[in-house]
Amino acid sequence: MSELNAIFAAQKAAFDQMPNPDWAYRKANLKKLGDAIAKHEGEFQKTISEDFGNRAFEETTIAEMLVIQGGIHHAIKHTPKWMRTRKAPTALHYKPGSNKVVPQPLGVIGIMAPWNYPLQLTVMPLIGALGAGNRAMVKPSEFTPKFSDLLKEILGEIFTDQEVHVAVGGVEVAQEFSSLPFDHLVFTGSTQVGRLVAQAAAPNLTPVTLELGGKSPTIIDAEADMNIAIPRIAHGKLLNAGQTCVAPDYVLMPAAKIDAFSKAIIEQAEKFFPTFAGNPDYTSIIADRHYARLQSLLEDAENKGATIRTAGDDDKQQLAKERRVPLTVVTNTTPDMKIMQEEIFGPLLPVVPSETLDEALDYVQQRERPLALYWFGKDKAKENRVLNESISGGVSINDVAWHVIQEDIPFGGVGPSGMGAYHGEDGFRSFSHMKGVFTQSRFSQGKQLHPPYGPKTAKMLGMMKKII
Ligand code: NAD
Repeated sequence: MSELNAIFAAQKAAFDQMPNPDWAYRKANLKKLGDAIAKHEGEFQKTISEDFGNRAFEETTIAEMLVIQGGIHHAIKHTPKWMRTRKAPTALHYKPGSNKVVPQPLGVIGIMAPWNYPLQLTVMPLIGALGAGNRAMVKPSEFTPKFSDLLKEILGEIFTDQEVHVAVGGVEVAQEFSSLPFDHLVFTGSTQVGRLVAQAAAPNLTPVTLELGGKSPTIIDAEADMNIAIPRIAHGKLLNAGQTCVAPDYVLMPAAKIDAFSKAIIEQAEKFFPTFAGNPDYTSIIADRHYARLQSLLEDAENKGATIRTAGDDDKQQLAKERRVPLTVVTNTTPDMKIMQEEIFGPLLPVVPSETLDEALDYVQQRERPLALYWFGKDKAKENRVLNESISGGVSINDVAWHVIQEDIPFGGVGPSGMGAYHGEDGFRSFSHMKGVFTQSRFSQGKQLHPPYGPKTAKMLGMMKKII
């Protein structure tokens, strides 16, 4: 039996011994998770930065620490309510029987994470899994090896392997991990690998939550306040150097405004980052392969006639040495450019002309359903049209990305950007079995439907049809 199989079997056996842990146990787990992460904040900042080449410590705090602490705080406050048995209405013809829903832990949850926010994307699903009373196995990305070792060490100090196990390793480990017969598997990563994970889970009929990526559009209305839109879009695009699943991928806006927008967003980026090379505030691209892919997207666009504007005037060789890519605005794009076809996942920002809301919505509808969609504008009627006529995992209005860290709304994709959702109560529900229970009364009329069938049955059915 492989090590992973043995740990899975041990977790399963431990779960069977305690299939419905009480709130005190769950709360203690959440609390020690939060405390350990807070205590080791500095080490997480340092190792994540080393894995990236550079990542601002502040960005680790903003996008990982705060999100996790918010998630834990919210779970501790609300899980007792989510755990409760809920009374459910009962239709008249089944009374005096009664209905209820009993939330129940599922067992062993598998969590697979990407490298871009390695701590948040392993721990946020873990909060949901532990709050719902499960055990969990976690597989962080091979692209953040120092972080993964640290996570294993820190979680190993507070949990036994039968409670939470961190499996480090490369793609082979990930493949074996995805084929374990988990009671639920959460995968965060690319759409392409998401398909493979769903295939690996299928023989076990393991339910999957797939948190995937895609091209998240930003629609800027003609009347939008650019002083609000530009810094918000620039920040969302440059946080983690654009290596964010919900980063604004491209902008749709009226052609006459594109020039001014391009200039202004470049100026904004230069205000945020007076230099890109050597600046501790600016994040490097995770690996050479990813850096080369971004360069090839730009080359392809330029060869096909795009106009490229780059922020700053850093030395190109130095930028390449540090794997840094400044904000780069790409205009005059055509649909055959790779940058308009694949998720960018870096600080390149194509701007596509779109004169009306109809045109912008058409553009979005004709493409794969995105993980996020952003709209900047003032008109409520147009805002409602955007919400009603586009399908995306989530939306932020007059900002980008902030919907992701709201614990009171679900976070997840739709179609190629994912399936299922978590965060807050949605996480609790994803990692619980919401068991429907009907309790029959002594005085049930159900016997009227027992055979032999005849006039008595017909009379009963007639009555039931009337009150349904
Ligand atoms: P990835 O799909 O390459 O890797 C994610 C995980 O899959 C890693 O743990 C890796 O070990 C594992 N893996 C790799 N090959 C595998 C295989 N053949 N079988 C099973 N597992 C395998 O993703 P990435 O490059 O690490 O992350 C970037 C992608 O993740 C982007 O598309 C981004 O949009 C997406 N993402 C989505 C969210 C979200 O919440 N929806 C968040 C962050 C990133």
